[in-house]
Amino acid sequence: MFAPPRTLHMRIMLAIALLQLVVVGLFSFYLFVQQIGNEITNRQVLGHKMINISAPAVSQMMSGGPGAVRTYLENMLGDRSLAGITAKDSSGNALFHQLKESPPLHPVARWLSPDKLQPRISAELRLDNQTLGLITLELSNEPLNDKIKALLGQLSYLFMLLLGVDLIAIQLLVRSVMAPLTPLAAMAREVSQGNWDQSILAMEANASEEVRNLSEAFIESAKTMKRQIRELEATRTQLAEQELKLRTLINNMREVLLEVDKDGIVTFLNPAWETLTGHAIENSLGLPFSEFLIQPKHKAFCEPRNLPNLPPFDLELEVRNQFGNSIWVRMHTALQFNDEVEFTGIVATLEDITDSLRLQEQQHQHEQELYRLTITDPLTGVYNRRHFDELLENMLHMSIHKNQPLTLMIVDVDGFKFINDTYGHPVGDEVLKAIARTLRSNEHHGGVVARLAGDEFALLLQNSDKEGSCETGHNIHEDLSHIVIDLPVGKLTIRTTIGFAVAPFHGKTPQDMVRAADVALYHAKNSGRNRVDTLSKERGEAIMEIFSQGFEVQNAISAGMIQPFMQPIVDLKSRKTVAYEVLTRMKRGDTFVVADDFIPIAEDLGLIREMDLFVIGYALEKVPKNVHLFVNISLSSFFAPEFAQQLRDLLNSPPAKNRSITLELTERETVEMSDEFIRLFEEIRADSCNVALDDFGVGYSTYSYLRNLRPEFVKIDGSFVLKIKENQEDVKIVQQICELAKIIGARTIAEHIEDEETIRLLIAMGVDYGQGYYFSKPVNVSAQAWLTADLV
Ligand code: C2E
Ligand code: MG
Ligand code: MG
Repeated sequence: MFAPPRTLHMRIMLAIALLQLVVVGLFSFYLFVQQIGNEITNRQVLGHKMINISAPAVSQMMSGGPGAVRTYLENMLGDRSLAGITAKDSSGNALFHQLKESPPLHPVARWLSPDKLQPRISAELRLDNQTLGLITLELSNEPLNDKIKALLGQLSYLFMLLLGVDLIAIQLLVRSVMAPLTPLAAMAREVSQGNWDQSILAMEANASEEVRNLSEAFIESAKTMKRQIRELEATRTQLAEQELKLRTLINNMREVLLEVDKDGIVTFLNPAWETLTGHAIENSLGLPFSEFLIQPKHKAFCEPRNLPNLPPFDLELEVRNQFGNSIWVRMHTALQFNDEVEFTGIVATLEDITDSLRLQEQQHQHEQELYRLTITDPLTGVYNRRHFDELLENMLHMSIHKNQPLTLMIVDVDGFKFINDTYGHPVGDEVLKAIARTLRSNEHHGGVVARLAGDEFALLLQNSDKEGSCETGHNIHEDLSHIVIDLPVGKLTIRTTIGFAVAPFHGKTPQDMVRAADVALYHAKNSGRNRVDTLSKERGEAIMEIFSQGFEVQNAISAGMIQPFMQPIVDLKSRKTVAYEVLTRMKRGDTFVVADDFIPIAEDLGLIREMDLFVIGYALEKVPKNVHLFVNISLSSFFAPEFAQQLRDLLNSPPAKNRSITLELTERETVEMSDEFIRLFEEIRADSCNVALDDFGVGYSTYSYLRNLRPEFVKIDGSFVLKIKENQEDVKIVQQICELAKIIGARTIAEHIEDEETIRLLIAMGVDYGQGYYFSKPVNVSAQAWLTADLV
C-alpha cells in the first residue's frame, strides 16, 4: 500500500509535484495532440497536392503510352510518403498497381484521431473533358510515425525538463515556507528531550505571522507543560513518599489488612496476618478466605455469592490459626467496585478481639454475678427486698392488665429471734436457708420468692385466686412445718405464720397489697400464730380506704377519724376496775376500725408516732385524773430521735401530773435493747410512769426486755389465755410467765378473758389482773358510760 511521506515538507512537495505533473502532463498532451493534428492535416494536404500534381501528369502521359506512365508512377512511388499507387483506365483495368511495404500506424495516431486519417486518396484521370480512368494514392504511415516518435521524444524531454525545473522551484518554495518551522521543530525536539532552557524557548525574530502565532502557542504550551510536568514530578515525589509511608504503615499495622477478590480468594495480606494466625502469607494467598474460618455461618458470609451482600456492620469471625486453635477477629469490610460499578471484591481489616471477648465474657459474668448479688439475698439466694419491690410492681401491673389475680404471701417465722438468741446465729441462718429452699420448691406455683426482712419472706403467685392461694398457703405452711434442723442436742422444728393478699381484691398498688398482706399476717399472729390468714372483703376495703395515698394524721385527727377507746383492767379477785387501757380506733362512716387492722400499717408508714402522741394527749385530757391509764406505745416510734423528748413533754404536761400512767410496749418491730435506748427509757420512766410489757410470751425478745426494762406489769398475751381451758401447754406458759414476773417483782395482767372459767384458772395460777370482752369491750372515750367508780 502507498504510505504517505512522513514529513510535512515531503507531503507538500509531493502534493505540488503531483499537481505539476498533472499540469505539465496536460500541457504536453495538448502540445502533442496539436502537433499530431497538424501532422495529420499536413499529410492529407500533401496527399491531395500529390494527387493534384500526379493526376494531370498521368492523364497527359497516357497518350504517351503505358511505359511512360509506369516510369512516372514508379518514380513517384519513390517518395516515402507514398505507400502505393494504383492507376486504372476508364474501363477499370489496372494500368499500374504497386504497393510498398508500409509500417503499421503508430498506436498514438490511431488512439488520437484515426477518423481523420484518410490513407487513400483518389482522383479522376481526365483529358479534354474525357474520362481516362482513376488514379489512387496509398499514403504511407512512415512519415507520420516518424513524426509521432520525434514528437514523443521531444515532449518527453520537455516534460522532464519542466518537471525538473518545477521540482527545483517547488523545493525552493517549500523550503522557504518551511524554513521558519525548523527552529520550532528544533525547539520541540529540545523540549521533548527535557531541555527547558529559557533561551531555547525563544521566537525567531523574522518569522512569518503564522509561524509567530504557532511559536507563541508552542512556547505557551511548552511553559504550561513545563509547569505541569514540575507539578506532576512533585506529585509523583509526594506519591512515592506517601506510598512508602503507607507501605510502612501497612507492614506495621497491628490489624490484619486483607483483600479478597469477588471469588472469595485472598489476594493480599499484610505481615500482621502471620503474627496473628501463624499462617505464612505466601501460603495463604490464593486460598479461599473461608478456609481459615471455623464456623459454617462465618464461612457462608465469605462465599462468593454472599460477599457482595456482607452486612454493613462489623462481623465477628472465628479464625483458625496455624495450630488449629480459634482466634476471634472483628472484620471491618469495604466492598470494592470497578468503574462499571461491578463488584470486584472486598478490602477488610481484621482486629484480634480474642482477649477483649474473653474479657467481655468475664465482665459479663462478673456483671451478671454483680447483678445477681444486687437482686438476691446473699444468705438464702432468693430475691432481696429491693428487687422484690420491682417485681411486685411489674407483676401487679401485668396481672391487672391481663385481668388476672396476683397473690402476695408474706411468711413470717414464729419466734425467730428466740431461735437466734437461744441456738445462735448459725442455726438461725440454717432455718432461713431451709425456709428459702422450701419456698423455692414451691416456685412451680408461678411464684417468685424473696426475703423481705430478717425472718420475713414473700411469695408472689401469678393467676391464683383467693381460694387457690389459700390452698397454696396451707400447703406451703404444711411444707414449712416439716422442716427439721438438726441441733447438737435434739432437733428444731419450725412454725410459721402466713398472711396473704390477692390483687385486685385487696388492692391494685404494691403499697396496698403489702399493707393488706401485712395486716393479714398480723392478724394471723394475733390469733395464735402458726397459721395462714387473709383479710375479709370488708376489712380489706376499710384499710385500703383509710390508708389510701396521701393519708395525713393531722387531717385524720381534725376530721375526728382517730378516737381513743377504753377497756377496763380488772383485779381478778376483787373484780374491781383498777385501770383502763387506751386503744385507738379509726372512724369509718358509722363504724370503727379496730387497732389491729391499722396499727401495723401506721407503723409501716411511720404515722404511728403522731397518732400515739395524739391519742395519749387526748386520753389525758378527757379521762379524769384518778383513772390509771395504760397507753400503748410502738417501739418503732423511738426510731425518730425527737420522739423520746415529745413523750417526756407529754408526760410532764399538766393533764399528766399526779396521775398513774403505764406505758405498754409491744415488740412488733425489732428494736435493739441498746444501752442508749435503756438510758432514754429510764429518763422517761423517771417522770413517774410505769412500764408494762404487752403481749408477753409471743415476742421472744421480751425476755431480754424483762431483764433490761424491769417492767411493773407483764401482760400475758391473749393467745395463751383464749384457749387456756383446753390447752395444757398454755397453762404451763402462763404459769411460767407468772413466775418470771414474780422474780422481777412485776404484776401480771391476762388479756382476752372471755369467760368466768378462765378467770378462775388465772386466779389459781396467780395472775393479778385481767381484761377482756368478759368485763367490757373497748368503749369510746367520749361515751362517759365506761367510767366506773372502782378505780385505784
Ligand atoms: P393490745 O394492747 O394487746 O390490746 C388488746 C387487744 O385485744 C385490743 O385490740 C382489744 O380490742 C383486744 N381485746 C380485748 N379484749 C379481748 C377479748 O376478750 N378477746 C379478744 N379476742 N380480743 C380482745 P385492738 O384494739 O385491735 O388493738 C390491737 C393492738 O393494737 C393492741 O394490742 C396494741 O398493741 C395496739 N394498739 C392499740 N391501740 C394502740 C395505740 O393507740 N397505739 C399503739 N402504739 N398501739 C395500739
Ligand atoms: Mg396493749
Ligand atoms: Mg396485748
